[in-house]
Amino acid sequence: MKISGFQALTLAIPEDDPLANMPEEEGRKRPVVALRLRTDSGIEGIGITFYGGKMTGSLRAAVDELSELIVGMDPLRTEAIAAKLRAGTGDSCGPGGIFTLAQSAIDIALWDIKGKALDQPLWKLLGGHRDKVPTYASGSLRRGLTDNQAQRAARILVQKGFREMKTQMALPGNPTPADEIRRVRVVREAIGPDIKLMCDINQRWRPEQAIDIGSRVEDVGLFWLEDVTAADDYQGLARVTAALKTPIAGGEYLYGIAPFAQMIRHHSVDIPMIDICRAGGVTPWMKIAGMAEAFNLPVVSHVMPEILCHLIAACPNGLTVEYMPWMLALYEETPAIEDGMLVLPTGPGLGLKFDEKAIAAFTVG
Ligand SMILES: [Mg+2]
Repeated sequence: MKISGFQALTLAIPEDDPLANMPEEEGRKRPVVALRLRTDSGIEGIGITFYGGKMTGSLRAAVDELSELIVGMDPLRTEAIAAKLRAGTGDSCGPGGIFTLAQSAIDIALWDIKGKALDQPLWKLLGGHRDKVPTYASGSLRRGLTDNQAQRAARILVQKGFREMKTQMALPGNPTPADEIRRVRVVREAIGPDIKLMCDINQRWRPEQAIDIGSRVEDVGLFWLEDVTAADDYQGLARVTAALKTPIAGGEYLYGIAPFAQMIRHHSVDIPMIDICRAGGVTPWMKIAGMAEAFNLPVVSHVMPEILCHLIAACPNGLTVEYMPWMLALYEETPAIEDGMLVLPTGPGLGLKFDEKAIAAFTVG
């Protein structure tokens, strides 16, 4: 089998919130680059990447340029293809940034092709540890809401059957520690003691703030506190992790494999969070998960649950899947949630088919 061609598309997907109908801003769109990688056997793989923001045109160009390099290659040889991509940029345009983001769309599509060629779902191909995985609602309990809105949204999520959900601190404006603490307490009050509650800081605190506020919410029983300070402040993160009983999660902002070695070596987090686009695709994501396993650490995923459910289900140390519904509208069908668990698809590869009407409606280039 050989890669025979490709088509990349730039999409603008509405940023709505189908989980609790709490969109951040009406009408805003998220730019995404979608890839169809074609083979001479008729099998087509799909890949997605984003985080380009105002540089999405550059990301799209990178996906086009890198995909062009691998036409004629065997799609099953993912490592040979990764080497060709690196060599194509003189081994000097990565692993951080647009190279890695573009590479991830290609690597995801290659694994989709592999699954389809072998007629196996990706989660089985990668190890198949479980056929159902825990998942948590993400994006609805964001920091911009009032306490009342956050409580209302949290109750909606519980009614919908979610048993895990994530809120945020580092509230907008100039909040006092008391304001921050109140937010997680009111959400906990709304959902009761048995729902797992995570809280994301998105790198907005200093380490000493994280230790101060984090220590005052230990009794809330957070499942984790996420990105409590700058993602590459490995020692600062380690101070927070050592000071708090609450587990610390982080890693979504890291590019490639090597920064996770720093994060793990410095005991910066209890729970590495691996982003597939910044990691560079399925292949490096699984290597990072394996590295964490060797250090007795669980791993969690970041966004795109329809793809990341495969990876969390495949590995023995996969903890839970972030159910961020940003891109569900791209597909005819996405994995069902039953009793708070994502049910892994049985179809080959990613088990996803683009909804061609939606793709046409979202295509901007
Ligand atoms: Mg996060």
